[in-house]
Parts: sequence; structure tokens; C-alpha cells
Amino acid sequence: MSTSPNTTTTGAAGELVPIADRLRYLQAFRLLLAAVVGLAAWAQRDDLTAAPVLVAIVTVGYLAGSLAVHGAWLLARRAGLAAFGALLIADGVYLAWASWATGGATSPVRYLIILHLIAVALLASHRTGMKLALWHSLLLLVVRYAQQADLLASPNGEEASMEQLLAFSTVFWFVAIVTASFSAVNERELRRRRYDLEALAGMARRLEQASGSTPVAEVLVDHVRETFDVERAAVLASADGSPLRVLAHRGDVRVEATVEPTPGSAIGSAMGHRATRLVSHLDAEADADLAAALPDARNVVIVPLSAEGQAIGAVVLEHAMRAGTRIERRVVGMLERFAAHGALALRNAWLLEQVQHLAATDSLTGLPNRETFQRSLSQEVARAGRTGGEMSVLLMDLDHFKRINDTLGHQTGDEVLRSVARVLDQSCRPFDTPARYGGEEFGVVLPNTGDVEARAAAERLRLAIEEATIDPSVTVSIGLASFPSDGRDGDTLVRAADEALYASKRTGRNRVTAARATRLAA
Ligand code: GH3
Ligand code: MG
Ligand code: MG
Repeated sequence: MSTSPNTTTTGAAGELVPIADRLRYLQAFRLLLAAVVGLAAWAQRDDLTAAPVLVAIVTVGYLAGSLAVHGAWLLARRAGLAAFGALLIADGVYLAWASWATGGATSPVRYLIILHLIAVALLASHRTGMKLALWHSLLLLVVRYAQQADLLASPNGEEASMEQLLAFSTVFWFVAIVTASFSAVNERELRRRRYDLEALAGMARRLEQASGSTPVAEVLVDHVRETFDVERAAVLASADGSPLRVLAHRGDVRVEATVEPTPGSAIGSAMGHRATRLVSHLDAEADADLAAALPDARNVVIVPLSAEGQAIGAVVLEHAMRAGTRIERRVVGMLERFAAHGALALRNAWLLEQVQHLAATDSLTGLPNRETFQRSLSQEVARAGRTGGEMSVLLMDLDHFKRINDTLGHQTGDEVLRSVARVLDQSCRPFDTPARYGGEEFGVVLPNTGDVEARAAAERLRLAIEEATIDPSVTVSIGLASFPSDGRDGDTLVRAADEALYASKRTGRNRVTAARATRLAA
């Protein structure tokens, strides 16, 4: 398993040194080249192959031309790569001409060619360096054949010997190959790091947009799979120290499995020591839970997830490793960084979910609170209004509850409230919203329910509370109102249900009264 950095060497997006910087540095380098050529020409002014004034003109022309191209690029900011390539070709021609003009095989200018090669291989890429080496060699040959054909004069009247040319070419290619090789190693490492950083930044961006613990775990498992090219991966975590659950997975993972991170298990050891564990296979006994979640897993990497000094789970993945290969240290390091980001995001998502849950729930009974009741009521009234449907609302109040507090104490009173809440929760249909409305009052929103059905539901709830094994036993009085017959908005419906509830109280308690009945009676 290895990460797969983008290996393109051409194209501005894949370059390590931006084209603007490359052009700038090489332009500075050209000033140096021209200065050295000028010095060499002055030192050999009596021995030049070309006239000193011609050397001066060509050098100034070369500088002016390269500055013009550079300036044009600065203005247009387009075709940077083409400008860079064209200037390299011009550099080659100028250096070949300048070494011929300043003495050929004996000219110190020749060494500038080697310097040029090193600079370009390091600044652009090893491939560009090798292409440039080929260009310089070609120009050396061109100069030699031009001298043989008497198209160019030979320095001191004699052309360079083939041995001299070969010796220089050998040194030249040796330097080119060595520089290009080391620069390739450098480039690969830098490119990998950049790829790693980009992958991490990409995940951070998506984590920012993920709301909720499951979406966060999905982003983490997705990025692990995409970046490391793994078949099977799972994020196992638990918010409260209970056995770990599969929050997200890719590949064949048993989602219903729970994993206890016991100290003897690989996952327990990874979480306990906060250190990545690599195991060739999962022990059927010690790692029974994890082995059940990822059947027949081989070459398993377990990266602990920890936040605020606490182990909250692990990313577990199986990688397709060929025999004899080892997982790279760099890959483990990257996985750990992914896990660190993911764990922090997971912790934040849990905290947010906890706050949202607390804000929506009554702390004594665990039922939805009055705000949640009101929200659900508004939603259902709006939905019924939109679809031309029906819905109902129940308000219930415990009968003679004060007596329980007075005779058995408030703690018993609280326990009775919790028991009634439990009965309500169990007796309501899944889409109903039972809530604690106030002190010993409860409300239930019944979506898609007309008054006849609602009355039956209310009777069922009343009976369930009366017959529940609550000590002391309690009864409830219930008032019921329905949309649209008793009101077309939440407030009117609650008022109607409240009036019906008090009618139930007045007429003897432990009964259900519909708002319609109170209206008819009035
Ligand atoms: P009825 O409704 O049948 O007319 O009689 P009641 O005795 O239930 O009516 P009342 O409104 O007089 O009493 C309600 C009592 O509920 C008063 C209050 O002390 C008690 N109560 C309200 N909230 C809580 C609570 O959270 N815990 C406990 N233990 N008692 C509560
Ligand atoms: Mg009461
Ligand atoms: Mg009351």
C-alpha cells in the first residue's frame, strides 16, 4: 500500500517551484553568466576568437533579449512555460557561442555550461535538466563541425581535438546525470509531502462541512480509502466509554458488530498506548470482537482516535500488501494525522449533538421538552395545512399528584413522573411526539390523526398509565383537540386541549375529553 502522488512533471499545477519564481531566479542567473563572460573575454582580450566588440554586442543583445521576454511575461502573465523553454534554448546558444568566442576548449566559459545545467535541473525538474544536457551537447558538436567546415574560425587557428571534446562531454554528462538523479530524489520527496499536505487539507475542508458524528466518520473513512487505496476500512468509536460501534465503513464490514477494546486485544492495546498497531491477522480469541466486525482480515492497521487525551475509538483498515513488503513509515504517519483530525472533528460533533440533545430534552424524564413539543406541533400543523390532512394534540395532567408529594415526598413524586414518562414513551406510536409539557403535565403530538383516532389513542394512553405498575398508582386526565376542527394553529389547539383537560378534571378525572364535546356543552 502506498499513497499515489500525482507524478506529472509538466504543467504549471504539478511544478514544485512556481513558474514565476523559476523565471525570476534564472533571469538573475543570466546577469551572472553575462558578467562572467565579460570578465573572461577581458582577461583573454588578446586571445579571443571573435572581436571583443562582437562579444560585447552579442552579450548585451542576449541580456536585452532575455529581459524583453521576461518583461513580456511579467506584463501578460501567460505562456510562462513557453517563455521558460525558449529562454533555455537561447541560453544554450549564447553559452556555446561565448565559449567558442573566448577560446573554445580552453575557455573558462565552458564551465558556465555545467553551472547552467545544475541550476536548471534543481530549479525546474530532473527531466528538464536532462533535456538541457542534450541541447548543450548538440551545440558543442555543432560548433565543432562548424569549425571543421570553416564556417566558424578555430581558436588559435586549431580546432579542439576529439579527445578534448570527449573528455569535456564525459564530465558534463556525469554532472548532468548526478544532479538530475539527486534532484529527482528531492523532487519525489517534496512532491509526496505536498500530496500528503493537500490530502490532509482536503479532508479538513470536508470535515468542516460535515455536521454530525456519522458524516464526520464517513469523511474520515472516505479519505483513508481514497488516499491509501485500501479495500476495507472502518471507523469504530464510542462517545461514552461503551463498546465501540461501527460509525462508518467501506468494504465488507459487519456494521452491527460492537467491539470491546479489552487490554489484551490489538485494538485495546492501540487505544491504551495511543499507538498505531500493525498486525498480520486478528487473533480469534483476544480480538474476537474485531475479527467478527472484519471477517478474515489480513495485514490490519489499527490507528487510535484520541481527543483531549482520551482514546475514543480507532480507524481500522486492511491493506493489500504483497508478501515481503512493509507498510511505509510515511503512510503510517499520514494515517495518524488523518486520525488526529478526524478524532477532533468527531469529538466536536459529539459535543454538539450532546448540547442539541440537552436543549431538546427534559432532564428529569428524558422525554422531549416543551420547546420540542411546540416545534413538533407547529411542524405538524403546517404539514396538515399544506396537505389538507388532519392531526391532533393531547394534554394530560396527573390526578391528585400533589398528594403524592405531600405524603411520600418529592423524590417519590419525581420517580412517578419518570415512570409515567416511560409508559407514555412505550405506548405512543413511533411517529408520535410525547413530551413533558410542564410540572406534572404531558403533551402528545399525533401526526396524521383525526379526532376519532386521537380519542382511541388517548384512551389507550390513559388506560396504560392506570394499569402500569407504578407505586403509588396514578391516573391522568386528558384533553384532546384536533386540526382543523378545533383550531388552525398551534396556540388555538393547545388552548382547546387545555379547556378539554379541565373539563375532564371537573367531571371526575381519569378520563378523556375532546374539545368538540366541551364546545357542544357550552
Ligand atoms: P389535580 O391536577 O388532579 O387537580 O391535582 P394535582 O394535585 O395534581 O394538582 P396541582 O396542580 O395542585 O399539583 C401539581 C403538583 O405537581 C404541584 C407540584 O408540587 C408538583 N410538581 C410539579 N413539578 C414537579 C416535579 O418536577 N417533581 C415533583 N415531585 N413534583 C412536581
Ligand atoms: Mg395534577
Ligand atoms: Mg397540573
